[in-house]
Amino acid sequence: MCCIHHKNGRFDFCGITCRDKAKDIAPLLLDVPKGHTTFTKVEGEFQKSWKPAVSTLCPPVRQVYRVVESSALLNTYTEYWFVICIVNAVFQLYSVQQIYTW
Ligand SMILES: [Zn+2]
Repeated sequence: MCCIHHKNGRFDFCGITCRDKAKDIAPLLLDVPKGHTTFTKVEGEFQKSWKPAVSTLCPPVRQVYRVVESSALLNTYTEYWFVICIVNAVFQLYSVQQIYTW
């Protein structure tokens, strides 16, 4: 995530300039540290959306990655995250998507 301010409310970057700089060098995959507000938010979204075909407990989220794309629109953009869990000793990769208006 942003190396200057690790948290900025619900935003992943400290400001629009920071976000735009990231988009300039996109595509990027950013490691979201545990304890970051985005990690907690994505973890919550993942747990709410957990609807397995067979009744199983939602696996714990081990890692969250933020996808930064360069093709986003100027004012509205879609955010993607990948969530990594370990199920039966096998890494599982899930995607979570949310649309924000900046
Ligand atoms: Zn920044």
